[in-house]
Amino acid sequence: MRKTITLIALIIVAASWLLPEGHEIPVAGASSADWNPHSFWHSPWGRSGVHKGIDIFAKEGKTVVAASPGLVVYTGYNDIGGNVVLVLGAKWRFYYYAHLHSTSSHAGQWLATGEVLGSVGSTGNAQGKPPHLHFAIRSLLPLLWQYQADKPQALLTMFYVDPGVYLAGAGRSL
Ligand SMILES: [Zn+2]
Repeated sequence: MRKTITLIALIIVAASWLLPEGHEIPVAGASSADWNPHSFWHSPWGRSGVHKGIDIFAKEGKTVVAASPGLVVYTGYNDIGGNVVLVLGAKWRFYYYAHLHSTSSHAGQWLATGEVLGSVGSTGNAQGKPPHLHFAIRSLLPLLWQYQADKPQALLTMFYVDPGVYLAGAGRSL
């Protein structure tokens, strides 16, 4: 049954390529004042070299919701991200939610925009730092027009969408 649901969800993802994505800031009550727009692709940035997302600061335990619809492909823990949720959404893009205090979603689950997936925390390498949601958007397909040869890890500039731009709605036509 779970596999059937996953398959149907994948078909929906594939079919949703041209549909509007329904953006929403993924932390309840947060606004664009809660992240630094210049921190995307900031370097040097710890073990990852450059910062491939934005950090949305909020109190620990604040609700984290899906920024856009998609299929949860992974929920788990890693040393850098701590408790993380990875969602595959429209246009073959992965939405990565990290440093979560808790997760309330599971692999195979379909999330609508605004649906709860966890809560803000400081797990992984954010331990001891102010709680925040690390939010990143990775494209499986190269976004050639985004290529910036002068940036560190230049090749990867084609594979990450600036979440701040995305959440501002300017990313709609990307
Ligand atoms: Zn971050």
